[in-house]
Amino acid sequence: MIVGVGALATCQGVGFWRSLDRPHSPLEALPMPLQPASDRVARRVVLFIVDGLRADAAHDLAALDRLRQRGASRVLHIGFPSVSIPQYYAALSGVEPDLSGARTNGFRWMEWRLDTIVGRARQAGLRVATLGPNDPWFQPGFGEQFSHAWFGDSDYDENLSRVLALSSDLTVIVHDAVDVAGHDHGFGDAYRQAARVADAAIARVASSLDLERDVLFVTADHGHCDAGGHGGDEPEVMAVPLVAAGAGIRPGHYGEARLVDLAPTLAALLGLPPPVTSRGLPLADMLSLSTRAARRLVVESRDHRQVLDRLLGDRLAPITDRLRAEQTARLLALPLLLGAFALILARLGVGHRELACALAYLAAFVGVFWLCGGRVSLSSPRTSGYFARILVCAFLVAGPVYLALARRARRGSSVRGLLSRVHAPTLCTASLAALPWLVTLAVVGVRAEVLLPAPTWTALGAWSGIPLICFAPWAVVDVVALGLATGGWRGAG
Ligand SMILES: [Zn+2]
Repeated sequence: MIVGVGALATCQGVGFWRSLDRPHSPLEALPMPLQPASDRVARRVVLFIVDGLRADAAHDLAALDRLRQRGASRVLHIGFPSVSIPQYYAALSGVEPDLSGARTNGFRWMEWRLDTIVGRARQAGLRVATLGPNDPWFQPGFGEQFSHAWFGDSDYDENLSRVLALSSDLTVIVHDAVDVAGHDHGFGDAYRQAARVADAAIARVASSLDLERDVLFVTADHGHCDAGGHGGDEPEVMAVPLVAAGAGIRPGHYGEARLVDLAPTLAALLGLPPPVTSRGLPLADMLSLSTRAARRLVVESRDHRQVLDRLLGDRLAPITDRLRAEQTARLLALPLLLGAFALILARLGVGHRELACALAYLAAFVGVFWLCGGRVSLSSPRTSGYFARILVCAFLVAGPVYLALARRARRGSSVRGLLSRVHAPTLCTASLAALPWLVTLAVVGVRAEVLLPAPTWTALGAWSGIPLICFAPWAVVDVVALGLATGGWRGAG
């Protein structure tokens, strides 16, 4: 039974992770009026995304420092979850992952239904090109909006030459060496070396542009934890650099802004209306526009955002009410369920020794997970093998702790007594190991919804069953060992 419930918890955790990506966004098909465009300021706009470059690592890089001296810089904050593809979409659409529905890299297989700067440019007859390593980050439907797209790690430099030679009106470049180094080695020398590789590519892009007429934006989709990994809401993961230089940029260092502000800012430089459901606002302070043009841009964007907020609020209100009612019902059911469990365990003869055994298992599991550096954050599993190693350590320590204490709990029982109490420590431990899972189910439900839970609850939604899942094999070991032992005693008796 414990193995069955463990399998159920595994399926639910995987299902929760998969349900994070939503095929539809509440922003879809809102009757939004399109804002008028400003005058075009830049001949060419290039957006260079250094995948995984955290804000504090964007210094001491020759090309980036030169651009910073010449142009504008600031720190941008991203929305949770800090995962690449949702953040690429956030930068291009002006919509953060919670509302866009793109919340994992699995979203690349879903249709992108929101308006973006790419779509705006394409509709205006501009040429749009993109370049990246490996697989395209967009699904075919969205990819059709690019006039040209090149991918592949082996010929990245060649592809970079090709895309630069095109002189497209809007070019989106993704460079992933820093992210790969972060996953493989954490935030250290290899990461900084990879940042220098990305910086060399930035230098090539900058030298191909005429920054009197063109503009280059360098930013990142997310940062990396010190140990490597991203996905959660740690400050070093949520803050990314922005350096912009060239036509239409007013030099200086500016205050913090958001990644979603990029889409309307790039649109303003290209003389395009912003993506229609953009939640970002143009970074007018760093644009060298006439006072009149700057004021118009700010006022119109603010008005547009107010209309969007009102329409979105109307659309979300019934959804919020429904989710709140469902959560209340689950939270009310939880104590009843736990009470029923407690009664069953009491009838099975669970006493303080069995309870101590269960508490020791859970404490050992959580303690080892924590001491090895594991955190309840989506950033934890995103470094090659790291999360698996932590879980194996917790599994290998907590299991024997349980076995030893379960033996003690049964000590002194006669064979008859032992048989009647054989399952008490096992069931008590399984029940306690299931507690994080049951509480999480009550708080967030079985699947992710339109409104994303807080970052810690989102991680728990996918993983809270792990202590129970890891207990199942030890329960089997325990029962088999006990069966052999009692069989032996019977034979002796
Ligand atoms: Zn990554």
